[in-house]
Amino acid sequence: MSSAEDRSPRTPDKRLFTPGPLTTSATVKQAMLRDLGSRDETFLAALRDVRAGLLGAYGLGAGWEVVPLQGSGTYAVEAAVSSFVPPGGRLLALVNGAYGERIVQMAAVHGIDCRVLRGVEDAPIDPAQVAAALAADPAITSVSLVHVETTSGVLNPLVEIGRVVHAAGRVFLVDAMSSFGALPIAFEDGHVDLLASSSNKCLEGVPGLAFVIARRARLEVLEGRARALVLDLFAQWKALEATAQFRFTPPTHVVLALQQALVELRAEGGVAGRGARYRRNHERLTAGMERLGFRALVPAVHRSPIITTYHYPTDPRWDFADVYARLSRRGFLVYPGKLTKAACFRLGNIGRLFVEDMDALLQAVAGVLAETGVDPRR
Ligand SMILES: *Cc1c(COP(=O)(O)O)cnc(C)c1O
Repeated sequence: MSSAEDRSPRTPDKRLFTPGPLTTSATVKQAMLRDLGSRDETFLAALRDVRAGLLGAYGLGAGWEVVPLQGSGTYAVEAAVSSFVPPGGRLLALVNGAYGERIVQMAAVHGIDCRVLRGVEDAPIDPAQVAAALAADPAITSVSLVHVETTSGVLNPLVEIGRVVHAAGRVFLVDAMSSFGALPIAFEDGHVDLLASSSNKCLEGVPGLAFVIARRARLEVLEGRARALVLDLFAQWKALEATAQFRFTPPTHVVLALQQALVELRAEGGVAGRGARYRRNHERLTAGMERLGFRALVPAVHRSPIITTYHYPTDPRWDFADVYARLSRRGFLVYPGKLTKAACFRLGNIGRLFVEDMDALLQAVAGVLAETGVDPRR
């Protein structure tokens, strides 16, 4: 299983070199061709299977819970942020990109007292600075970190920061949207208390289901803390425990797709196997882009094998919108940058993509450079 037939034998969909939604397998898409009722035993079994599969992917057993929520990944992050900071508590948001900033915005919307520790966009958050910030401010009750900052592709040191947060007696929330399913996550060693992710990134399901994985003891204290009805993690969890159902219309097709996607994750060797494919993709793509003369923003030691940010070439003939359109016509979708400082674009290498797809993209990029006369080395 390693090529285009695996994705979609008939539809000529473009390949998605983005952070999500991503290219999915044909079998994941086919799993959705059913109409199940929300109380239908087939659906409830799929939901149980998905919840067990999400915990099982990281070997999490007793003491851990998973709370699925309708919506994109941001819904799970906001459900966690708006529930886990106690009344009168204070959040320390660790920020080195747009997804960290989004957590700060959430705190503002929900009237949560929030302090921000801002790092730079092309390097990880420094655990020593986190320790200092916590020591200096005893009013901080809760800390948030983005594991892979998808804005740049920087991998943040989850374990080191989690240890600092735990040693200081604070509660630790991780946005693991673009790492869950492909990168190791040391839930225990990293003292993760709550973690948010979604169906459509490294899990290779379709968009529409978000989830929070939490220590049971951390969930149990959230009763009555929610600041929004639909984002009430505790109520969603309790309803699932009591009735095995969602509180509101469940995304049945999305759950079926994720059930199949989890089967395919296990068949690939679980998180380690998927991570290995993504790393092969990443190495092939970054080596090829470098050969073409592009410069990556983040030094190799800080990069995640998920997505890579490239500076725009300085050649005046470079026009990202035009390059995007030319690649799109060839069947490849790339992604704009999101950094505040540097002009850049991004290439994701996750989803149902293989090294042959990386080679195909590199060939298309070379073709576009030849056509437009852009020399990235200039
Ligand atoms: C994609 C992403 C999100 C947001 O997910 P949506 O599905 O777009 O809501 C949040 N955090 C990180 C790190 C992400 O990569």
